[in-house]
Amino acid sequence: MSIDSSLPICIAGQWRLGRGERYASRYPATGEVVAWLNAADLQDVEDAIQGAHQAFLHSGWAQRKPHERAAVLYRIAELIRQHGEDLAQLQRQDNGKPINETRALVASAAGTFQFFAAACETLEETITPSRGDFVSMSLYEPMGVIAAITPWNSPITSEAQKVAPALAAGNAVVLKPAEITPLLALQLAHICDAAGLPKGLLSVLPGKGSLLGDALTRHPLVKRVSFTGGTRTGKHIAHIAADKMMPVSLELGGKSPTIVLDDADLEHAVAGVLYGVFSSSGESCIAGSRLFVAQHLYDPFMQRLVDAASQLRVGDPADERTQMGPLISAEHRQSVERYVAMGLAAGGCLRLGGERLGGPAYERGFYYPPTILEGLSNRQQVCQEEIFGPVLVALPFTDEAQLLEQANDSLYALAAGIWSRDYKRAWDLGRKLQAGTVWINTYKQFSISTPFGGWRDSGLGREKGRLGILQYMEQKSLYWGMNQQPLAWAGLSREVAP
Ligand code: NAD
Repeated sequence: MSIDSSLPICIAGQWRLGRGERYASRYPATGEVVAWLNAADLQDVEDAIQGAHQAFLHSGWAQRKPHERAAVLYRIAELIRQHGEDLAQLQRQDNGKPINETRALVASAAGTFQFFAAACETLEETITPSRGDFVSMSLYEPMGVIAAITPWNSPITSEAQKVAPALAAGNAVVLKPAEITPLLALQLAHICDAAGLPKGLLSVLPGKGSLLGDALTRHPLVKRVSFTGGTRTGKHIAHIAADKMMPVSLELGGKSPTIVLDDADLEHAVAGVLYGVFSSSGESCIAGSRLFVAQHLYDPFMQRLVDAASQLRVGDPADERTQMGPLISAEHRQSVERYVAMGLAAGGCLRLGGERLGGPAYERGFYYPPTILEGLSNRQQVCQEEIFGPVLVALPFTDEAQLLEQANDSLYALAAGIWSRDYKRAWDLGRKLQAGTVWINTYKQFSISTPFGGWRDSGLGREKGRLGILQYMEQKSLYWGMNQQPLAWAGLSREVAP
């Protein structure tokens, strides 16, 4: 197929062109077109949901034994691994992340399917302690059609984290990837087909969230929305869900503090802070973007941090040595620049970066360098709003009680980091920090077996973990009567009954 032809999309078991407008997925490093697509429109949403509903009712997927569903998910994991390099290269082009990072994301997606296959075939339902002449059981049923809505910053990983547990639970899924990064979601649908997933159980609808995501969320046949994205969009979805009495899980934004205590191992702390905020070019919900450093360490620590940050290799995502690729789009880079200007206008000063990189290597892509601001307070806008770019604000502290107050002073509460050699201090602080995940002497490390999610404006619900599958199921209690006599209330018994 020529690059100018539109890619078919997957709607209710058929690969065909979307009925919406034609648009291009572009490589953020050069602006070149990677693929053309026709977005889905509202009729496509309806078709995908009806197809998913029919597949849920009639394909037999929900009735398959857990180990049989698991076998398909294991095959999906295997196929992701087999096509791993192609997928990683395509993802690099779709969203501009460095190739080493996209390889890790693809491997993580395969691991997620494998994990939820295992969770599916080992999920236990329970016989609960009985308080009468009955056997009582707690069981789980699939819900029906699930809408999965994902952002652009970690395609295939975000998608796997929703699609794998939702399918494992016996549901059908309509997946809406971010408009600008649709390619990996489409590849995932091809892989699911090849692995033998019944037709119609997974549809993929590229296009505008305000149209398609909104319609999916409102649709009466959609029984749950699993959303990852910005807090504003998440709240919009939560309002619609409230009217439908529909459960939602919302993985939203962050403004995470990292804290360097005065007894920290500086080499570890510098490496961790750098990775925490600048990897993925800061386009990460858990970016450690507010840095609190003990006052008496502040100058030497900042010097080491600035020196190390200035050595980070920003450039071609195809080069294996690259640590930071371009930002996702010209528009997003402008938004990052506005935040840096705002910080400077508020009295901040630049320790590093803050200006576009010059030279032929950076001309066509949306590159932005690692940027470090200081001289600001935690209350200022750049410390309160998510920038979603490679911008760190450093804040010295003297008093630990005040530090805790400031670290927790945010609408967001997704993650936090602590660097200290004193495990008792770190334990105390770690318990008092308000965040869904706290890393101690490490940062941005993940395990699919550990739940993940945010407090407050960072979200609702948890993904991952063995029990992550349960959010895509309805709990049901079943009672089996074991009484020899009729229930006593009616006053009947064998002796008096005719
Ligand atoms: P976004 O909210 O703009 O979009 C996310 C998804 O929602 C996209 O697929 C989009 O098309 C869709 N959407 C947009 N409007 C919608 C509507 N009205 N109804 C339904 N769906 C709609 O977010 P983004 O810019 O793509 O992603 C960046 C955000 O995602 C950041 O805030 C980041 O912190 C967050 N994020 C959170 C996590 C997490 O796990 N907590 C992970 C990655 C990204």
